[in-house]
Amino acid sequence: MIQRDHILRAIKEVPRDHWGVVFLFVLVFSSLGYGLIRSEQKNELLSANIMQLEKQLSITTSVLERSISETHSTLAEELNRERQTVSVIKSDLGNFQQEVGTISSSVDTLEKLNETDPELLQKYSKVYFLSEHYTPERLAAVDKPNLYYEDQPESVHAKMWPHLKELLQSAQTAGVTLWVRSGYRSFDEQTSLKSAYRVQYGSGANTFSADQGYSEHQLGTAVDFITTGLGGNLDGFDTTIAYQWMLTNAHTYGFILSYPQGNSFYVFEPWHWRYVGKELATHLKNTGKSFYDLDQRELDEYLITIF
Ligand SMILES: [Zn+2]
Repeated sequence: MIQRDHILRAIKEVPRDHWGVVFLFVLVFSSLGYGLIRSEQKNELLSANIMQLEKQLSITTSVLERSISETHSTLAEELNRERQTVSVIKSDLGNFQQEVGTISSSVDTLEKLNETDPELLQKYSKVYFLSEHYTPERLAAVDKPNLYYEDQPESVHAKMWPHLKELLQSAQTAGVTLWVRSGYRSFDEQTSLKSAYRVQYGSGANTFSADQGYSEHQLGTAVDFITTGLGGNLDGFDTTIAYQWMLTNAHTYGFILSYPQGNSFYVFEPWHWRYVGKELATHLKNTGKSFYDLDQRELDEYLITIF
């Protein structure tokens, strides 16, 4: 109150002609004051705006971050699903390839079986008959040095010849002499042979010579062997080193003794060996059975492995 009195008194003391100046001062100060207040208000508004913006920015940032993270995990899941699909496709493809392989191997087996002559593992002795028209699909000549009579050519089944040759070479390497006395014989040759034996030996010929159509020689896979010290005879072959060597080794080249000692099908023929393939020959050797002991169905299972 005292200040106001002072101011009023001071104003009254101001000469009248100075009032204009005083009014000007008052106006200037008032304007400045108003300006300050306005500026203060503006600042406050600006700060509030900034805070609002910052808040919005923070919200937007967190929304974006969440969205990015969600997108990431969605993409990862999709990638994982794609990978699983690829792996399933790969495995399916693998199975398919395996199936194709199995089918093609079955087809190969069937083709091979279809091409293999089923007569090659048939039994021909007394009760089993081979047609007079039967001839091996192909014959191969036995090498001259392997023949007992070099001027009497012998031939055998062409697919069997490499196995016979291998056997003869192994025997030679082991110091054992083996010659081929007889190989393939046609139906007609067997007929003439049997007639000749009948003339010479009468009904006794039946004990050592098969009738035509019952001889394994017509297959081209049977061989009569001869060795030194027998004067060109087949008889006595079982007393030789060559026979012992054959008993021990022949199966590894696919050969078996068709009519072993004590067999119930035919007379013992130690010189007469038949090619049946390594698997069947080894099976017979290991089980101690003879070819004619086995059931035909069991023999036929070895047809696929004969050559
Ligand atoms: Zn024979």
